[in-house]
Amino acid sequence: MSCIFCRIVNGEIPAEVIAREPDVVAFLDVQPLADGHVLVVPRAHAAAVEDLSPEAADALFRTVVRLAGPVREGLGAAGTTIGINNGEATGQTVPHVHVHIVPRWPDDGAGTVHTIFPRRTSRTLPDVGAAIRKAIG
Ligand code: 5GP
Ligand code: ZN
Repeated sequence: MSCIFCRIVNGEIPAEVIAREPDVVAFLDVQPLADGHVLVVPRAHAAAVEDLSPEAADALFRTVVRLAGPVREGLGAAGTTIGINNGEATGQTVPHVHVHIVPRWPDDGAGTVHTIFPRRTSRTLPDVGAAIRKAIG
């Protein structure tokens, strides 16, 4: 098995584990963006969010909700930025779904989710809404 996060889930390689649950494991990022940078992963391998089973998705977000407060409080942070790089094109480097929880402080110099994007759009909201609703079916 070559997936690094599957190997962490299975205990084959070490990690600073925060929580082990039936369907989810949370551990510290080995190259933290801030103290307390946690990764929350489903035990079952899935490359992208779209590949998660409904049960795995429920369990994953339940754990994110459960850990967000303790991660913030444990580090004395003011808040957390929570995000997923979903797919290689977005910069996802480990193709096993993982939710980043990164503690934030008012003076930490980091941006918001909005700062990732240059805000380049070309279509109207109704046009885009119709396209997505059509894809939903
Ligand atoms: P991505 O860019 O795919 O959203 O983030 C992958 C994250 O996994 C990175 O922040 C990286 O530091 C972290 N990471 C990669 N390999 C390992 C590892 O072996 N152990 C741990 N704990 N984190 C890892
Ligand atoms: Zn995996």
